[in-house]
Amino acid sequence: MRKGRTSKNINKDKVLVFILAFILIFIVIAFKNVIYKNIKVSTNTVKVDADIKKEQYKKDEEAKNKQKDEEKKEETKEQAKDNTPKVKMVPFKGKVEHIFFHPLIAYPEQAFDGDNKAEDFDDWFITVSEFNKIVESLYSKNFILVDINSLYEETEQNGRKILQRKEIMIPEGKKPLIISVDDLNYYKYMIGDGTVHKLMLDDNGDIVTYSINSKGGKVIAKDNEIIPILDEFIKVHPDFSLNGAKGTIALTGYEGILGYRTDFDSKNYEKEREEAAKVVKRLKETGWNFASHSYGHHNHNSITIEKLKKDNNKWKKEVESLIGKTQVYIFPFGEGPKYSESKFKYLQDEGFKIFCYVGQSSYENILKDMDAVVTDRRHVDGISLRHQKKGFLDLYDSDEVIDLKVRPKR
Ligand SMILES: [Zn+2]
Repeated sequence: MRKGRTSKNINKDKVLVFILAFILIFIVIAFKNVIYKNIKVSTNTVKVDADIKKEQYKKDEEAKNKQKDEEKKEETKEQAKDNTPKVKMVPFKGKVEHIFFHPLIAYPEQAFDGDNKAEDFDDWFITVSEFNKIVESLYSKNFILVDINSLYEETEQNGRKILQRKEIMIPEGKKPLIISVDDLNYYKYMIGDGTVHKLMLDDNGDIVTYSINSKGGKVIAKDNEIIPILDEFIKVHPDFSLNGAKGTIALTGYEGILGYRTDFDSKNYEKEREEAAKVVKRLKETGWNFASHSYGHHNHNSITIEKLKKDNNKWKKEVESLIGKTQVYIFPFGEGPKYSESKFKYLQDEGFKIFCYVGQSSYENILKDMDAVVTDRRHVDGISLRHQKKGFLDLYDSDEVIDLKVRPKR
């Protein structure tokens, strides 16, 4: 019995041990999962932490590099400033030279082909190579281009408006110069007979010319007309321009402007006006300004005031609507009415204040009582290159400029 009891007790113990072992195993397994999960979570946290740190480090590095780049840029700028010679600006009140051109002869073989216009081209126009030589000479003689509009200001005295010269500041040693370009309309008679056909914009938004060369090929160029030639020259020689000034473009309207048939009589004038407006916008952005050259290019000495009024109204509707208001009036043929004439008064009432004629020297007369200025421009063309060498020696030596190889023998 005792043995039996003992044996019973032993069995009981065994069961107890077994249950305890089972509980222990269960606890271990349960804990194992929890511990494992915790470890897993904490591993992930470490991983995420590491990623955030990496990202932060990357950002810090980027910021550091950016700062370094900025510092470098600033340094380069400072160096560039240091390398630029310090320019002393001085006030200028003296005479401002004013010369004018017509569109350039881009194709001398077309202009000087012996037809009935060849002599007119020889008289009134110059070639691309002649223009390039003139620009080089003007630059070497320390001229600097200024905006005609920057020279004058209107003040009031005793209730009356008075126009007067404004003191401009120019780099010491430089001589201010105004350049104007007449009839940059590319009239039908010019096209195919020497000049380019029109101005347009290239993919960079720069002004370029479009033309058809003598072999019938389309040409887009920057080196065969005054506008892009000066644009490029001033990019290389910014000290040839005061505050980015380039020149004044004098436009009629009867055959459109800048090579676009923008006049209301033309078939596609709406589309043409759209295209012309883009070029005008760019010209203004790049230092060019505009003048009226009247609508129909009539002689302003012989025109009646009635006809002048009609002409100017048409110019305002068709040309001013594209180029904006201007105070500069450049008389066709360089001739205009006397200041006392009603035609002059009429143009003043229409907002024009700076009147340009043509003369042997750059004359200027400020009509103080009349709120206007009358000026003479010097004509740079075949006539002056051939016959007026002395009168232009302050600007260039025409013997070195004139291209007699391509001009007709006369
Ligand atoms: Zn003209």
